[in-house]
Formats: sequence, C-alpha cells, structure tokens
Amino acid sequence: MDAVALRLDDVGAASKLHEVYGVTRIRIGPLALPFPGNLLFLKYLPPIKRWGPYAELTAAQWEAILRALDDARARLTVAVTAGWVEDGGRIVPFPEKFPEQARVLRDGLSRGALEIANHGYTHCVVQDGLYRPRLFSGNRAFHREFYDWLPDEIHREHLRAAQDILGAWFGERPRTLVPPGNILSPKTVAAAAGVGIRYISCLGAAGRSGDGITYVDDAHVLAFHDRDIAVGGMESLRRVLETRPGARLVTVAELAALQEARRAP
Ligand SMILES: [Zn+2]
Repeated sequence: MDAVALRLDDVGAASKLHEVYGVTRIRIGPLALPFPGNLLFLKYLPPIKRWGPYAELTAAQWEAILRALDDARARLTVAVTAGWVEDGGRIVPFPEKFPEQARVLRDGLSRGALEIANHGYTHCVVQDGLYRPRLFSGNRAFHREFYDWLPDEIHREHLRAAQDILGAWFGERPRTLVPPGNILSPKTVAAAAGVGIRYISCLGAAGRSGDGITYVDDAHVLAFHDRDIAVGGMESLRRVLETRPGARLVTVAELAALQEARRAP
C-alpha cells in the first residue's frame, strides 16, 4: 500500500490576521479586468478578500480533527508557527497564546496521532513592521519568513527560537521543517541542520539533498491549511482524507523515514 503524508500548515501563525490582500483582477466574460482590490477596506470584504483575517482553530475543533483522524486511521503532521506576532511586534510563544489548543495538540502527539513540525517562528518578516496590512496594497510577499535577503542570524535565531518553544512544550524538538510559503534559502538549510531538523517538507523539494537533510516533496504530501477548516469546516478535512482512497496517510517524518529506507543499500 502506498503511503502519502498528511500535513496541515499555519497553526499558531499570526499571518491569518495580518496577511491581507484582495483580488486585483475581475473576470467578466472573456476579460480579466483590473480591479483595485487592495484599496483601503476593500481587501477585507468577501469576495474581494483573499486570505486573512480568519480565526485560529479552537481546542474543540482540534478534538474533532483528532476524532476524524482516528476514524480514517490517518496520522497528521501539524506545522506550527511557534510565535504569534502581535500588532505591536511583540512575539508570544504558541503555548502561551493558545494554551487550550496547545494541550489538545500535546495529547494528540502523545497518542501518536500527530507529528508537530516547525513552521517558523513568525511566518513573516517582522523587521520594519513589513508584515502589517497596508492602506493601498497587499502584503502577501512579507508573509514568508526565510528569504535569502535576510541575514544569516535571522535564519538561525528564528529556527532556534521555534525549536526551543516547541521542544519545551511538546517534550521533543521537531524533526521536520515546513518553510512558510515554500521559501527556503541555503542559509535556512544550514541553520536547520544545526538545530536538529532532519526533514524538510515543501513544494519544489524534489531533487534537493545535502546537509544530512531528507527532503519530502509536496508531490507526496496532501498539504492543506488551517484556513481550509476555519472557513470550510470539518467537511473540508473529510474531503482531504478521501482524496487518496487506499493510500496510508502518515506523517511527514514517517514518509521521510520510508524514503530513507528505500534509498539505503
Ligand atoms: Zn504557512
């Protein structure tokens, strides 16, 4: 039976609040006309609004997710952003910002239903307030964390902070990194190897190697976002669980271990 990894991103990420942008084209018949969807309040209004704001999943929703996983005999990698960036730039550790959710996730981990992965410390560029919503434009580009133009220390400090927070709460440091927005620089990879990351899971990971890291390409992963459940409800999770009938749904770490075993002589 083939195995596919199941991965849910953006848990604890404040990008769900700060990443705001609107549609900039509107389709009328065969035409795609320019539309000022990023202007002032327009980007907050459905159907112009494209990403945030939306709510963090509640502890009750997490209980329901764990039950659905049980029923489907599936395991899930939860990619957690370890720090919540407040409006003023203060960064609050995930277990402090969302204590009830953090407890349910820790139960799920100890029952073997979940893997907790590192999805960055902030999910965004914090410097100069670049993550904040703007009046006249979208801010999507700054809701990625590990750009190559950021200095080495940012990559190192952010990955270490995330490993420390998640390791302290969950009792084990994540082995998997899911880079926010699939943006990954050689600086990130070097820093990740130094803080105990063994696996990297993202789009475009195929063919990468080095630094003792095993890459899991999104072609072998059913990747979705907490937004799908926040907006679409449990039905959207059930749809994901039914995407690959017959496949065993495992964590990213399990799939990486299978990949390594297959490569071993
Ligand atoms: Zn993300």
